[in-house]
Amino acid sequence: MLVEVAVAAAVRGTFTYRVPTQLAAGVALGQRVAVPFGRSKRATGYVVGFPTAPPPGFELRDVVQVLDAFPPFTPKLVELLRWAEAYYLVPPGELLRAALPPGLNTRGGAETPRRRQVEYAAPAPGAAEALALLGRARAQRAVLEYLLARGRIPLDELRAAFPAGRAAVTALAGRGLVLLDAETPVTGSGVLAAPDRAVTLTSDQERALGEITGAFGAFTPFLLHGVTGSGKTEVYLRAIARARAAGQGALVLVPEIALTPQLSGRFRARFGDEVALLHSGLSDAERHAEWLRLRRGEARICVGVRSAIFAPVEALAVIVVDEEHEPSFKQEDGPAYHARDLAVVRGRLEDAVVILGSATPSLETLENARRGRYRALSLPARVDDCPMPAVELVDLSGARRGGKAPAAGLLSPPLVAALDRTLQAGQQSILFLNRRGYQSLVLCEACGAEARCPDCSVSQTHHARRGLLLCHYCGRSEPMNGLCPACGGLRFGIGVGTEQVEEAVRALLPRARVERLDRDAVTTADETAGVLARFARREVDVLVGTQMVTKGHDFPGVTLVGVVLADTALALPDFRAAERTFQLLAQVAGRAGRGADAGRVLIQTFNPRSPAIARAVAHDYAGFAEEELQRRQALHYPPYARLLAVRVEGSEEGARRTAEALAHAARAALSPGMALIGPAPAAIERIRGKSRWHLLFRAPDHAALMRVHRALARVAHRPPGGAAIRFDMDPYSMM
Ligand code: ADP
Ligand code: ZN
Repeated sequence: MLVEVAVAAAVRGTFTYRVPTQLAAGVALGQRVAVPFGRSKRATGYVVGFPTAPPPGFELRDVVQVLDAFPPFTPKLVELLRWAEAYYLVPPGELLRAALPPGLNTRGGAETPRRRQVEYAAPAPGAAEALALLGRARAQRAVLEYLLARGRIPLDELRAAFPAGRAAVTALAGRGLVLLDAETPVTGSGVLAAPDRAVTLTSDQERALGEITGAFGAFTPFLLHGVTGSGKTEVYLRAIARARAAGQGALVLVPEIALTPQLSGRFRARFGDEVALLHSGLSDAERHAEWLRLRRGEARICVGVRSAIFAPVEALAVIVVDEEHEPSFKQEDGPAYHARDLAVVRGRLEDAVVILGSATPSLETLENARRGRYRALSLPARVDDCPMPAVELVDLSGARRGGKAPAAGLLSPPLVAALDRTLQAGQQSILFLNRRGYQSLVLCEACGAEARCPDCSVSQTHHARRGLLLCHYCGRSEPMNGLCPACGGLRFGIGVGTEQVEEAVRALLPRARVERLDRDAVTTADETAGVLARFARREVDVLVGTQMVTKGHDFPGVTLVGVVLADTALALPDFRAAERTFQLLAQVAGRAGRGADAGRVLIQTFNPRSPAIARAVAHDYAGFAEEELQRRQALHYPPYARLLAVRVEGSEEGARRTAEALAHAARAALSPGMALIGPAPAAIERIRGKSRWHLLFRAPDHAALMRVHRALARVAHRPPGGAAIRFDMDPYSMM
């Protein structure tokens, strides 16, 4: 018996092995096996086929061991992975490894780890009297007071509120003042789970649901285009309920679970334990446990992030991709793939309905809908006839010219006034700036030298709170020194980051309770949930943050959203910069006015006439998309062309030589209508000391790009100068 094996290593192609008779009974498609590979005696591999004849001229080696009692991949998943491997030009074994929960990869074996539970903390009876006796144990007092005020709460929330309070909680439990207990979750992460509401669908929702359920049983992709708050999630939930009633399963992909606990909470609230969550905020053991529940058919609905596209859901009837336009569905490290596009492929393989939902569909998806490849469904209004928030522009360049430069933190007088008014009214504000740190650039006033990362060709960001200069690419940090290391001159910083905005708000509105949400302020999913929970409980007046504050939060108390600088994403050297800017602005604006009180959005910009900004102000997606699609067509960019990026990394000399050799090999394969942009040093020329070069191929269709790839194979196999080569089909990052 022979098997075709994808080895979990950075090699393209698959390998044939012989199966010894005593192992043959346990081998199935999708099974993990141990095989000798190169010099390794036991590499992990995945059975992806059963060839009838061995490839000529090779000496066959034997499978050493079968690693699972049942295959982790269903036959349909093997098919999906093989499709992805061929389309994205990635090593199949790496893709398969990335598709499994990390617990399974490292531990091996599919045994049952501990079932995930929510742990709760509650004050014990009599704890109030005991409070006085705690004396000088300040941490314990604080924790106990918090619990007395709140009652029984998830331990996660307590940890988020007291990140250093673990010992205090343990001590209190030891004294019998706090009770800890656990139960299996039925209502989501427990932190922000909203109670489920029975609603009557609007006629638009009814129509969308009818079309979706009418298509059950056959591959049908839908674009569900609905403004923020138009009830898209309710449509997903109803469609999935129908699938469940018919005994079938569902897969829901979301951009980011830690930032949207409300969403997963709604799925848990409606479907209870039938939902398995897959995201990086879980421990390896938890993820493994959730994955196993799906594989065994105990859970039939998977809600997860990008990599959950490979989740083993049984009898899949519905695949939802929520916020389908989000760039986070594109895997950038390791094997490059796009989970949204794979969702459509999986739908085809499994005869499932695919719902791509968004308030601002990507232009690729919109074009697919226009050409009739996807069926378009529309939810044009907010459910409760809540008006869309009024959006106003603050022209920063005009303010500068008028001698009224914005104050510290780039906060203009109108924005400060609006923040103040919102605070007075007892309502909440969100301030968004897509840049973390205090200042994005540090310069010497004597010699002009700029603080740059020694390993990457980018400037360092000043993080004042920690007193550091930080590289946002490699994470390298050094203490911030006020004097220039080159000439000893005085250094100063420019360019506003979220840390500076937070400081400015505190100074301008001393009464406001301010918190920051970015990757410096929170590092774990628990901390993120903690900040969002405090904001939801209205213990925070102003939330300052990066893109993390723009996601699908539903906070009825928020009546003001301020965009500190809309221009940051516009300036990127990327043909999608305008689209990305429009999406970000539309999304953050959608956070305002979701409750009883009307919302207001202030967008500060130096480019008030840029189409992306002007159209976002007018809530004019259709107008923006029309204009931008025309531009894409004129410039031959997606969705009217296909792109393949080839990324080369190595020594300065090696990367250049490899890039040139690739370009040379490719030129012969370029047919009319194709273009090679480059080879050129990448926009960020160096990261972690490695030189980076890019080649970007543009072609009318995917097949032409595959021909280029074949022409590159010889160079790619043995790059001159030993540089590393990565293929990125349908690339998103142009950096
Ligand atoms: P979206 O996903 O488009 O942002 P949601 O489905 O989250 O919209 O709906 C926004 C809010 O309106 C939610 O609180 C939801 O419970 C509520 N909602 C949805 N559909 C209805 C309806 N038909 N009637 C009343 N409330 C609804
Ligand atoms: Zn660096």
